Amino acid sequence: MSTRLLTDPTEAATYIKAGQVVAFPTETVYGLGADAFNPEAVQRIFEAKGRPSDNPLIVHVATAAEVPRAAAAVPPVAERLLERFTPGPLTLILPRHPEVPRIVTAGLDTVGVRIPAHPVAQAFLTACNTPVAAPSANPSGRPSPTSWEAVKAGLDGRIAAILKGGRANVGLESTVVDCTTAPPTILRPGAVTRAELRTVAPDITLAPATGPVRSPGQKHRHYTPSATVRLVETPADASPDSTSAFIGIDAPARPSAYGRVAVCADVAAYAHALFDFFFQCDRDGIQQIYCQRVTSEGLGLALMDRLERAAAR
Ligand code: AMP
Ligand code: MG
Repeated sequence: MSTRLLTDPTEAATYIKAGQVVAFPTETVYGLGADAFNPEAVQRIFEAKGRPSDNPLIVHVATAAEVPRAAAAVPPVAERLLERFTPGPLTLILPRHPEVPRIVTAGLDTVGVRIPAHPVAQAFLTACNTPVAAPSANPSGRPSPTSWEAVKAGLDGRIAAILKGGRANVGLESTVVDCTTAPPTILRPGAVTRAELRTVAPDITLAPATGPVRSPGQKHRHYTPSATVRLVETPADASPDSTSAFIGIDAPARPSAYGRVAVCADVAAYAHALFDFFFQCDRDGIQQIYCQRVTSEGLGLALMDRLERAAAR
């Protein structure tokens, strides 16, 4: 299969209607979409990514009014979260609508639903006129793609088309909140922070990183570039050479000793840059990537979650 590069969201939607899979931009990372109501099309997502079948997909819709197409019920706390944070980088776990095929939810009775804010994603989903099941558009286990070039590098020839839409501006995946528990639970930290969620759901809790797995995706290997990832407190803890790279907030003493360096102004810039940095390092044949730790507060919680997973192999 040759993968088409598209710029027109309406043309991309014709592939979804034909049961094909299409990568599309969102504000978090690029997604790999298929018609959520077409199980054979959804199966193609798992095949293209090599995704374990026990890892459920997030269903994307254009507006909050369409959430009931995928969810059997929308509890009051979910209504409030939708009102306050969507469209935006938040995924809600809700009771599954009986018409959503089991393959989408990996057999669970719940479904993840998200409304992306990215204008190209909005135009695409509106043109699809069906809920679109989509995980991140990377081979399973690899870093999520934040550019169409990274999608192409990972999945060229395995998917029908890529809808181009520039760099993803958040760069980390959505925050996943389980609204079927009381109180609601943050299953995956993301761009919407715990402090922001507390303004709407004051009793919201964070699922422990260890212990029983609530979100199946969290148990799989994640975000790993080909290079080895090592976490350091400060640049002084790294050993620079031309086959290693550094990314962090503080500048290393001898940046020219590295094969590649990114010094980020703040945590948001670091989150935005991380997966693209991994992509560039792999392209350059970098062997070792030193990543500076950040404080696990605000967006730093999501960034540290991705860094810890990238470093665990
Ligand atoms: P990805 O889109 O590749 O970042 O993966 C989607 C994430 O959402 C994974 O961590 C999934 O385990 C999680 N997810 C999707 N649907 C559900 C669900 N029904 N219950 C719990 N977690 C889910
Ligand atoms: Mg993913």
